[in-house]
Parts: sequence; structure tokens; C-alpha cells
Amino acid sequence: MDKSKFLRVFTDCYLVEGDDGCVIYDLTRLKLISITKITYDVLKEIDGKSIDFIISKFGNNIIEIIDYFLTEEICFLTDHPENFPKISEDIYFENECYSAILEIGSSSQYDYVKVINELNQLGCQMLLLSIKSDSNITSEEISKIFNATTNSFLKCIDVVIPSSFENVFSMDFFNQNIRVNSVTYLGSEEFKTETNENYVSIKRIKDEELNWTEKIVPTNFTFTLKSFMESKKYNTALNRKICIDEFGFIKNYINHQEHFGNLSTTDVSISQVFRSSEFQKKWDIHNDLIEKCKSCKFRYCCFSNSDLHYSDEKWYKLNSCENFEPVKVSAN
Ligand code: SF4
Repeated sequence: MDKSKFLRVFTDCYLVEGDDGCVIYDLTRLKLISITKITYDVLKEIDGKSIDFIISKFGNNIIEIIDYFLTEEICFLTDHPENFPKISEDIYFENECYSAILEIGSSSQYDYVKVINELNQLGCQMLLLSIKSDSNITSEEISKIFNATTNSFLKCIDVVIPSSFENVFSMDFFNQNIRVNSVTYLGSEEFKTETNENYVSIKRIKDEELNWTEKIVPTNFTFTLKSFMESKKYNTALNRKICIDEFGFIKNYINHQEHFGNLSTTDVSISQVFRSSEFQKKWDIHNDLIEKCKSCKFRYCCFSNSDLHYSDEKWYKLNSCENFEPVKVSAN
């Protein structure tokens, strides 16, 4: 090893400390690497220093640790450490609204097409259309909903629908509705997942209804560079999301108690609600501000739609992670 070189941690590898250990977020390879607090402290200390200096401070045994992180491509050697500045944490959102959930059940009386058109005005990019088993919606009404999405900003539509509607989702349908990303059939005879010719994920589940209560599990962790930066300033699950439940209530998430008006009973403007500070107040409550989460090493990748409550000047998640088992990843 050339001792005159300087060691740098790659700028897309972030060291995060928590009460229960530390993690490296490798945001290019999209993986988490568990490290001890000692390794965390050492990596923080040696980043940007020359190998000569590092050995004089930590002794020759440090070479083994450096070799490991060079091999894992967490660190690299350079003559010019100053040429690798930190990545900007500024975050820019192209569209006002990122995602929406529409739930349709036997009680639904709101105008679905009007809602789609209003979401389009907000530039909504992702839609989850959830049709409950007790819904009396017709195939014609479903077609009207999809017709309204044809010239929209939507990039991706996920559908959850009773298996009795399988006939609606023909190959013709998928050819015309290229934004459809997945269809989940409720009340199927067997559990099965496949991908059709149009690369649409087709899932069949036995459950008659979706369970909106999330389990906080590592498989739901999201860690891209953008979501990492977003998680430092926003609640990544609730930020720029709007949900309409089966009764027409406008909410931050479908299973939250708090609502911001009802589309069935009043002529509420979705845009007006969406843009109100009251509706947006939980968008900024990120994990660094939430008790328990603020000292968790997974706070920048944990995606949770949980409602939040405020008590004694502190924020808490209603649905936290009591039985959460930490991810088992390579340790050092
Ligand atoms: S809910 Fe909070 S404490 Fe639990 S894994 Fe997510 S960020 Fe960590």
C-alpha cells in the first residue's frame, strides 16, 4: 500500500450511527453494511487522511481494516482527497404529488374520474387503485377510470381488485394501459405470482381484503440516493401522498384516523386540501424527529406510512417496530 496516498470514503457511502450499532449505507450498490461503533469512529477519523498519518495514529493493524474496506469498495486511495466533495443534500421534486391511493368499496360515492383528473393536475406519478371485495363497481366504471389515466402524468398504476374482475384485465387492456405495473387479485383460490407478456406483475392472493397495517421489515427498506436525502428532511412515506378511503375521506394514508374532508358529502377540492399546511404538516416529520426512530440506524431507509402523534412536545409513530429484528448483513 502506497503510504503517501490519502484514504477517502466513497461519497455515496454514508456512515450512520444508532443506539444499537452503526451501518454504512452504500447507496450505489443499494446495500447496508453493519459495522461496530469502533469501526464507525475509525472510518470517520481516517476519511481524508494519508495512510502514513493513519498508521502513525492507529498502528500497523489498521492496514487490515483499510484493506477490507478497499476490497468492499467503501473506501479508495487518492492523491487528491479534496477533489471528492460531499454530495449535495438539496432535494428537488419534479411533481407536486408523488403518489395516491384510491379505495373503492360498497360505500363509495365519490366521482372516481373527477378524482383522477384532479390528481393529474397535481402531477401525481403513482396510483394504487384498491377495489374492495364488497364494491358494486361495474366493469364499465373501471374502464372509465383507466381511460382517465391515459393522458395523465401517472408513471405507474398498481391495482388491487377482487378476482371476479379478472376478465377486465385482458391482453388488450394491458396493451392499452401501459402504465399498469401490477394487478393483485383478492380472494383467489391459490397464492401465485407471475409476470405477464407485458411485464406486468400478476399476483393472486387468498385474502379477501388488503391489510393496510404495515409490518416494518427490512424488505420494505428503501435506500436510493434520492430517498436517503429525502429522509433527512421529509417523512418519505407520507411526503406528497394523498389517499381517498372507501368513504371518500381525504387522508395522508388510508388507515389514518385523521381526515381532511369528505368527497362524498361536500364539493371539496383535492388540490386545495393537498396544498393546505394542515394536510402537509406530517410530511416534514422525518425519522430524526420521531422518538425511538431518531436513534435507530435504519432511520434513513425505514419506509413507514404509520400515523404520527404529538405529545409533550415529542413525535411518536403509532405503528412502530416492536418485534423488529435487525438486518443481518456483513459485520466488521
Ligand atoms: S420504525 Fe423507527 S425504530 Fe423501527 S426500524 Fe423504522 S426507523 Fe427504526
